Order: sequence, then structure tokens, then C-alpha cells
Amino acid sequence: MEQGKNRACWAVVVAAGRGERFGQPYNKVFHPLNGRSVLMRCLDALEASGAFDGAVLVLSERDLPGYEALCAREGRPALVRAIAQGGATRQESVYNGLALVPAGARIVAIHDAARPFVTAGIIRAVIESAEVYGSGVPGAPVTDTIKLLDGQGMAVETPPRERLCAVQTPQTFQYALIMRAHEQARAARYQSTDDAALYEKYIGKVRIVSMPECADNIKVTTQRDVSAYECPYRTGTGYDAHRLVEGRRLVLCGEEIPYEKGLLGHSDADVAVHALMDALLGAAALGDIGRHFPDSDERYRGISSLLLLDRVRELLCEAGYRPVNVDVTIVAQRPKLKDYMPTMRENIAKRLRLDISCVNVKATTTEGMGFEGEGQGISAQAAALIARKERT
Ligand code: MG
Repeated sequence: MEQGKNRACWAVVVAAGRGERFGQPYNKVFHPLNGRSVLMRCLDALEASGAFDGAVLVLSERDLPGYEALCAREGRPALVRAIAQGGATRQESVYNGLALVPAGARIVAIHDAARPFVTAGIIRAVIESAEVYGSGVPGAPVTDTIKLLDGQGMAVETPPRERLCAVQTPQTFQYALIMRAHEQARAARYQSTDDAALYEKYIGKVRIVSMPECADNIKVTTQRDVSAYECPYRTGTGYDAHRLVEGRRLVLCGEEIPYEKGLLGHSDADVAVHALMDALLGAAALGDIGRHFPDSDERYRGISSLLLLDRVRELLCEAGYRPVNVDVTIVAQRPKLKDYMPTMRENIAKRLRLDISCVNVKATTTEGMGFEGEGQGISAQAAALIARKERT
């Protein structure tokens, strides 16, 4: 909006809540949503609207180090011009934020940092409403029937649904008016959970802006809210190669295969399972097998790699993922592996607790080329798909 710059429009972004229903030790707005935090997504959306000259971010003191770490990881948002300290209540936090808005501001949009899906359309509409009517608050139609209760959990009234709406943020006002409402509420020790209620009490009627996009302008409250927007799948690949030597057993996908040579390595040197483990760890961004099972560790000398695969499945599980399907390719000139494929697949399926239809093992030669073709070694490649486990 080309007028945006000269009408002195500011945002106050409130991120000082405790977010206890989110069930994480950190502020929910720091949670990464498909690789970018809820807070940065929210600030991105405000910035992209082109409507604001700047924003005041309201944070609790305890979250300042977390915010600095977030800026180091995801980039410092240019829109944020000042940080205000969170208060004991949301109302106090908003007041602290409003106090840092420059005196020349005409319009202020008070927004929950936990609503990262706000659109430029909503922002434009509430600002235009505030310009004309003094206020503009996004409201979504309610789909459930709402009951008014007495103190004992008994319904005493059923307001007609078409006259109800669920209000959201950004709640947008002429700056002088909302500041006056806040100051009067402070003086009267009046508390409310939203700014529109203060405006209603001390200034006048609040204009609700209802648009279809409001349905997606949700407030991230629980893990369920973020899972709905997160891609549940991730993929990874793995590669490994080991030297063929005399006097060692040849083990591939947990099957011992009769052959004149075997693979050299610290563990049983099961190159196929090693590639597979790296694919699984890679999909979960958990590094590689060298990190988890260093070959300097005596515990892993001669160990069956299938036992390490068990551990990888557990690591995935702890990180909130489960394997979906895997595909392994063994590159060996000799011996012929075809007859061992069914048991190889079974071994892997059992360890990963997957149906056999979700595990594929195949083998190829290189027609005599390279170290595999010349029989110096065997290599393997793997791909894995993992999914976020359903939360209960
Ligand atoms: Mg290896």
C-alpha cells in the first residue's frame, strides 16, 4: 500500500505469554514451523503486507536470550524497532508495547505473535477500518453453538449463532484512542483479555472486520495446531563402502553370505545397514552413524549392525519420527545376492517394525568398472522416508 508509509502505522507484537498449553519448555512462538519459527513467520507476514513503518515486540525478560539466539539463526527482523518488556498480564504487556510506539503514529495494530498465518488482506482491511471508524478487529464466524453458563456449569442462554463472532488479532485502532483506553483502564484497575474490550468500555463501539481469510488466522496454542501446518514427511539418503578382505565374514542386511572374502570394518562391516542407518539419521537431521557409533568405541567391535539399527530406530522415535519405507541398493560384482534378498528384507523390516512391503533391497554390479567391479570392495546406497509420529 503506497499510503502505508505516510500514515505512520505501527504494529505491537505480543509474545510475552507463557504458552503453557503448548507443552514445551520454551516460548511457543520460538517453535520452528517447517523450518522457520512461529514468531519470525508472524513478523514476515506483517512486513510483507507493506503496511507498517515499524513494530514493537513485547517479550518477557526470560525470553530475551532465546530471541537473540533466534535472530542469530533466522536473521534479525528489520521491522522490529524496539523491544518492550512483558508485564504480569497481557493487558500490561500491550500497554508496555504501546508506550514505545513513536508519538507520531496514527494507527496501531496489536497482534499476537502466535498468529503467524495473518494475511496482507486482513491487515489492509483492519487498517482501513481503523482509519475510517477508529477501530478494526478481525472476526471469524463461529461454527459451534455457544452456550452462556452459570457458575455451576449449567447453560442459561443460547445466543443466536449468527450474532456471534470469534475475535482475533491484529486488533487495530487509532493510536491516540487505544492509548487513552489503556490509560483509563490502568487508572481504574480494569482488566480484560483483549484490547477491543477496553476500547468498547472507554471509547466506543468496535468495528468487526469479517472475511473468509480469518478462518486460517488461527492462534497457535497446542502442538496439534502446528502439526496441522507442518509437513509430516522427511527423506534422507545414505552411502557407505567397505573393503573386501580375506579372513572376514561377509554380512549384508544382517545375512551372512558364503564367500571367500568379507568386508573389513570395526563392526561386522554390514555396508548395506550402514547406508540405511545414515539415510534414517539423515532424514531426521540427526547426523550420521560415525557420530552415534564411533569406530574408536570398543563396544562396537564386531557388533551386528542390526543391533545398531535398533538403536537408530529408537533415536528416531525419541526425535518424534517413525520410518515409513526404505530402499537399499547394494553395489557388488560378486557374489550373487539374489537368493538372499527375501531374508535381507525380512531382517530390515523386523528391526524397523515395518511391513515387508515397505522395505526394498536390491543389488547391482558395475559391469566390472571401479572398485566394486574389480572386487576390491562393496558399496551401498539407501533412501528412507520418515514421518512425524501422531501426537496423542
Ligand atoms: Mg561403514
